[in-house]
Amino acid sequence: MRVLNPATGEIVGSVADTPAEQVAARIAELREHQREWAAIGANGRKEWLLKLQDWIIDNTESLADVLQSETGKPRVDSLIDPIFGSDLIGYYARRAPKFLADEHPAPHSPLSRVKRLTTVFEPYPVVGVITPWNFPLAMPILDVIPALAAGAAVILKPSEVTPLSALELARGWSEIGAPPVFSVVTGAGATGAAVVDNADYIQFTGSTATGRRIAAACAARMIPYSLELGGKDPAIVLADADLDRAAHGIAFGGMFNSGQVCISVERVYVEAPVYDEFVAKLTANVKSLRQGRDDRTPRYDVGAMANESQVAIVSRHVEEAVAAGAKVLTGGKRTGEGTFFEPTVLVDVDHSMSCISEETFGPTLPVMKVADEAEAVRLANDSVYGLSASVWTGDKARGERVARALNAGAVNINDIFANLFNFALPMGGWGDSGVGARWGGAQGVRKYCKAKAITTPLLPTQERELTWMPYD
Ligand code: NAD
Repeated sequence: MRVLNPATGEIVGSVADTPAEQVAARIAELREHQREWAAIGANGRKEWLLKLQDWIIDNTESLADVLQSETGKPRVDSLIDPIFGSDLIGYYARRAPKFLADEHPAPHSPLSRVKRLTTVFEPYPVVGVITPWNFPLAMPILDVIPALAAGAAVILKPSEVTPLSALELARGWSEIGAPPVFSVVTGAGATGAAVVDNADYIQFTGSTATGRRIAAACAARMIPYSLELGGKDPAIVLADADLDRAAHGIAFGGMFNSGQVCISVERVYVEAPVYDEFVAKLTANVKSLRQGRDDRTPRYDVGAMANESQVAIVSRHVEEAVAAGAKVLTGGKRTGEGTFFEPTVLVDVDHSMSCISEETFGPTLPVMKVADEAEAVRLANDSVYGLSASVWTGDKARGERVARALNAGAVNINDIFANLFNFALPMGGWGDSGVGARWGGAQGVRKYCKAKAITTPLLPTQERELTWMPYD
């Protein structure tokens, strides 16, 4: 399968389209090696993970080169994956031993007081990880590392659009000499489906449509899964907000990575008294963004889109909105050669339009005027998605009130992507945005484990137990 640089159209690599039998064989091999990996314990695994972290830090620039070549991202955006990834590896390497330690819950009744209670976390043998193309190194790391830290072996099926960075991760794992418990299989949907058919747990990040298919396949095999899916994140700008900060934050939230982020800002609701002023500031910010084909010297803010089908979705959303009466304040069309779409601000939009109701995954910010906070919350919650959201206000208590009222797995107050680098917080979507255990904190690693409950009587063995028959 050929891999293209979408900014230039150039072929930058080719990978195997792995057939299902090979996926099954690879999983069988991983299963063999996993027992030893589990046996070295969380502290033993920590040493390997820290070696991988060093390898990534040492190779940051070359990893960014590969990632940039398969995504057409600007240089700064290309550096985010190795930086984020190495940070996450350090977090889980150091904390997993604590998260995985046996627990002894306190007794809660006279009956439980006479037992020693223990919870043990045992890894699933082989975790299957399936990832999208928007962060070709960070997404695999986010899913693979906690699973390895848990003691599972991992098979990764990266997106066929951007498989090269994932192969670099596998190269790093073998270059540090780590045990053969991590393997990458390249290919399209059929290869992913073979992973689902053979692994013991599935962690999927991608579109809601594919997520539904995977959930059905996992249900048929009765294996657990977690799904991180699409989003349509709202930003609410209240009249007491710092409008400069909001306009900068939302421009970044909508345009970072050409809007191809699951937690991109995709809808903006602004209270009427500040609507005109905010829209003017936002439009000026978006207009000032530099778009183009970067090399190793950072010059641009916004790069290419991942492929032609993404450009087609963004173009359709803008065209349909304009046909229904929306106005384009800046941008609105594809530009230059390659898959570039101009950073776009749309107004006079409403909830009947695809640009507000469907995930766009592109550099567009549709902005709506609302009467008050209540209307903003009602409209923000009028979506099948519930990934993340932001609220912009000068009043902390109001910010908290709105945050609690929003239907979203994460809410940032006066900030964007606040939980992206906070690995201690649970990250994940509600509704059509996701199902199952989250990234982050203890649950990010424990989801890859089966919990086992063990009890041992604390009574002297000759003492009679309450449950002995015949009843006393
Ligand atoms: P996609 O669903 O098309 O593909 C994701 C992965 O699934 C790819 O590796 C693909 O080959 C594989 N796949 C396709 N069909 C499959 C099948 N039947 N069985 C198993 N695997 C299969 O998604 P995409 O276009 O690569 O990524 C964009 C989407 O990802 C957006 O919707 C975005 O919101 C979402 N996303 C979500 C998060 C999150 O945290 N919630 C993060 C990043 C991206």
